[in-house]
Amino acid sequence: MFESPPRSKMIRHLQIALTPAEYQTITQRYQRRGVFSRLKAEDDYWEHVPTYLIARCPLCAATYREKLDTYNLVGWRIRLDNWKSIYVIDDNVRRFDEKKRMERLAKQGKLSVQKLRKLKEFRGYVPKSAPQQIDCTHFVGVQTFLNLNKVVPNELDYFSNESESEVPFVIPDFLPDDIESYVVMHSLPICRIEENQFVPRYAMYMLTYYSARPHWLRERFTERYRGGGGGEGYFLVWEYAVSQTKRLSEAWNLAMWVGKRKLLWLDLEEFDLPLRNGPVADFPYSNIEGMRWSYTYRKGKLEPGFF
Ligand SMILES: [Zn+2]
Repeated sequence: MFESPPRSKMIRHLQIALTPAEYQTITQRYQRRGVFSRLKAEDDYWEHVPTYLIARCPLCAATYREKLDTYNLVGWRIRLDNWKSIYVIDDNVRRFDEKKRMERLAKQGKLSVQKLRKLKEFRGYVPKSAPQQIDCTHFVGVQTFLNLNKVVPNELDYFSNESESEVPFVIPDFLPDDIESYVVMHSLPICRIEENQFVPRYAMYMLTYYSARPHWLRERFTERYRGGGGGEGYFLVWEYAVSQTKRLSEAWNLAMWVGKRKLLWLDLEEFDLPLRNGPVADFPYSNIEGMRWSYTYRKGKLEPGFF
């Protein structure tokens, strides 16, 4: 059972729109060798995945929403290089945006014959509704931490947590003093199916970064860590930088960042989850416990690292 923040506050915001049996019937359609793939899943799956509020931009109040499967761990794989989204895969978002853009141009009669053909043959699954809505230009990135709360995920043969830690930490490089920037924290439970019920067992913590100058921040960040992780791409840089950040003691001191008015959170006490920027005494995430490394559970047995 998890106590920080109190479980009752987190489960208040959980959305359940179908029964465990319905959920299992749908997800089994997209299993290969017993492994569910959210990349392959189509609308019959996604339309049942609840859309959650993830963050509110401290600069312009725009909301960030995303579809998150809080029913089960089965589709989850937290990866450091998936920094633009939490559950949906970047590919899904990119395809959705591109298809919508082309449809808009086609409606205005601005699409060439070749592009119209391309639109008809659009490859890969494109969700009908937006899998992710960020709605402002201040978004820098989002980091996700999945915490099993010491529960062994026996329901899965294999589960890997590649997020470097179950305990959330911030990336100080994204919260400098010279550029207006913030991180907004939120949490949700993830269930598992027990005796034909969805029971909240695990916790997910999401830290969304915003800045008045997101491009400057990203450029500076990429410049600083380039080469160290064996790659030039921004994704590889992100992965390397996070592993470096883990070594900084200030990265783990969430209360300090709240005190500096850099770390804000969505207030779990309120139904509409307003943004809070203090005081430290009200901050609900100061004492989260858990493993501070990546790991794999294979048939209920814990192994360090992931494969
Ligand atoms: Zn904004």
